[in-house]
Amino acid sequence: PSYEFEELRRKIFHDVKDVSYYINSQLDWLKNAKNFDNLNKNIDLISQQFKERINVLIASTYNLSISNHLGEWRRTESENLAKVVQKRFTELQNPEDCNNKKKIICDMGKSCGYGCQMHHIMYCFITAYFTNRTMILNSDGWRYNEKGYEAYFMPLSETCRKSNAQQVGWNEHNDEKAPEIKMPIIDAIVNKPSFLPLSVPKEILEPLKKFHGDPFVWWSGQVLSYLMRFNSEFQKTINQHTEAIQFKTPCVGVHVRRTDKIGSEAAYHGIDEYMKYVKEFYDIEDLKNSKKTTRNVFLATDEVGVLKEAKENYKDYKFFVDETNAKTASLNQRYSPESAQGVILDIYHLSQCDYLVCTFSSQVCRMAYELMQVRFPDASWRFKSLDDVYYFGGQNKHDVMAIYDHEPNRENGEIELRKGDLIGLAGNHWNGFSKGQNRRTNEIGLFPTFKTMNVIDYY
Ligand code: GDP
Repeated sequence: PSYEFEELRRKIFHDVKDVSYYINSQLDWLKNAKNFDNLNKNIDLISQQFKERINVLIASTYNLSISNHLGEWRRTESENLAKVVQKRFTELQNPEDCNNKKKIICDMGKSCGYGCQMHHIMYCFITAYFTNRTMILNSDGWRYNEKGYEAYFMPLSETCRKSNAQQVGWNEHNDEKAPEIKMPIIDAIVNKPSFLPLSVPKEILEPLKKFHGDPFVWWSGQVLSYLMRFNSEFQKTINQHTEAIQFKTPCVGVHVRRTDKIGSEAAYHGIDEYMKYVKEFYDIEDLKNSKKTTRNVFLATDEVGVLKEAKENYKDYKFFVDETNAKTASLNQRYSPESAQGVILDIYHLSQCDYLVCTFSSQVCRMAYELMQVRFPDASWRFKSLDDVYYFGGQNKHDVMAIYDHEPNRENGEIELRKGDLIGLAGNHWNGFSKGQNRRTNEIGLFPTFKTMNVIDYY
């Protein structure tokens, strides 16, 4: 390691100790406070000073992560692995003998939104990959655009685009023999094969887990970016919009999902909740770079009013918005070619940002996060979700493993952890605690997130 690397590492160690001195002394002071008049003001001050210290620590660990040529190493690893994976996809989709190649048939007809349909196609494609089949996509009469998928994207194959044998439905026993298998929706499969999400192919596991913080998301980004290769005409449309909205990086992508989602699948979040994390991202960026960055925000939403509200209330930020997209996203215009174009454009621009603030309960936001992974060697940290942790709809288990014992505080609804326990993760409360079920004890409850690590599934 270089001197700068070691120096920064020691600085981080001492700064962490210093945060603990600071917090302990402030807590002592609060405990002994006799004068309650200024209490709120003092708590605000402590929280501001605490944040400043933590932001410096976050910026320092980032700088450590790219120092000593680690940034270049990570980039090379990621680019090389992406080439291997994309080559494999191209080979699989362009077999030498298309007539006799076994196939997966996938329908774009799932009756849900664009993000949900794309995740359906991703799951078909993942199945095709692991069963060594070519995927044929049916998108005629697509609810967003009757011209189908290829109105926006390159065909999934140059040479092999048609079904030419009898199709059978998915069945646990026929998958080896059947020439063509028509995929059901993921939720209809009772015994899901272990190659389905959140598994990554074992042939890429070792290099991948070394450079990336959430291997499955990198893998899903590779799949999605193959499926979403714009055709040349639509690429021109994209370029025109990028120019028209004056899109530039650095940029934080904010996605505010409202309308039909609220109350059914997600809670309402005001614009202030999103902007709090946009500010935090830029505060840290300024520390990383030792200079002030222009605070650009790309804002996408399905509720028109949000755009005006954000621009009026946050004058220190420069907003990029593709105005008509929100209008066509509204419920009465949603399943139209204009709406398809709008959501594809919005997801694309969100994915081109440096950071995302959104709700992972929305597939729009999860797609943007997936696509972002192909632009950075490790973009697993480049998001703040206001609700769920990342997931893939219909996924197999998502386990974390305890790396420290935990004696539960029962009053807080906590569960016991023993080092090595597997916990089925339900969600992160984003307050230092996650919720899940300990598979050893079957207990359901809260546990400190920092005492666990993600388990990486592979096949
Ligand atoms: P989810 O319902 O948010 O999980 O995602 P889906 O993609 O399955 O369905 C939501 C649909 O609403 C999208 O596909 C779009 O048609 C529309 N929509 C939601 N948010 C946006 C947005 O920010 N921009 C645009 N253009 N459309 C959106």
